[in-house]
Amino acid sequence: MTRDIVGRFAPTPSGSMHLGNLFSCLLAWLSARSRGGRMILRMENLDTQRTSIEFGEQLMRDLDFLGLDWDEGPYWQSERGGYYQECLDKLMAQGLVYPCFCSRAELHAANAPHASDGDYIYQGACRGLTAAQIAEKSRTRSPAMRLKVSGTVGFKDLHYGWYEQELQRDCGDFLLRRSDGVFAYQLAVVADDGAMGVTEVVRGRDLLSSGPRQLYLYRLLGLPEPEFGHIPMLLAPDGRRLSKREADMGLDALRERFSAEEIVGRLGYLAGLLDRPKPVRARELVQSFNWEKVPMEDIFLPEGLF
Ligand code: GLU
Repeated sequence: MTRDIVGRFAPTPSGSMHLGNLFSCLLAWLSARSRGGRMILRMENLDTQRTSIEFGEQLMRDLDFLGLDWDEGPYWQSERGGYYQECLDKLMAQGLVYPCFCSRAELHAANAPHASDGDYIYQGACRGLTAAQIAEKSRTRSPAMRLKVSGTVGFKDLHYGWYEQELQRDCGDFLLRRSDGVFAYQLAVVADDGAMGVTEVVRGRDLLSSGPRQLYLYRLLGLPEPEFGHIPMLLAPDGRRLSKREADMGLDALRERFSAEEIVGRLGYLAGLLDRPKPVRARELVQSFNWEKVPMEDIFLPEGLF
């Protein structure tokens, strides 16, 4: 049975959107809309220290300004803790979750850095703790929760093709809940995309390496799996990743210099959908969207384009 297409925006409201976020939102929207799909908006504000409702509201105004609409939401992850706990309980019932007492310093000292994203591969220091050791350690420290991984998981990315990882070797047992009680991105994103019926997850390729972990979780939780479509990263002219720290590439600053159509046209040009950066409305790009036009390599912002 074919499912109706459902895409999503899943921004983290921790600051004003920068060009990289806008690029992801535009392509996620185009990919879904070009196939007649619906869009969901979900605010990934699990970390309430780093995010705010105001940034979330600003983000909705920004999407609106760019002509990127949605049919459902906003959902706020900060309100969905009970549901994430149910998902965690389901995994615990399968005997696949264990408490981890490692401090940040211990984690960095004992674990090899991950080749692609600077993260580390957990070597399992707490995997074999006995009940007595857990009780002893729990007296002084509240643990994080980790998922035991095994096997090889792969998928055919809509853009980058086949991608797989041998989970123990390539990512290691990963966090489901932090020691301060905040649920981990990996658990929440799968729990939500699964529950919300998302059929395609379009986002920056910095998250490509999360795909196998996420599929592993979908299978354990018995949730319907989406397709993944990762997109190249936008890089500053000197090769650095754009980040929220670069105020000049933030939408607040761009809005003072460009109209929505000028911003969308420049992003559409970078995505390979226009042969020159001419002003267009987002909906005028829907017809021309095609994954084959989108570059594979990360994209250097040409000097002077923004
Ligand atoms: N919330 C994440 C971000 O803003 C995106 C997560 C995802 O698309 O899976 O980077």
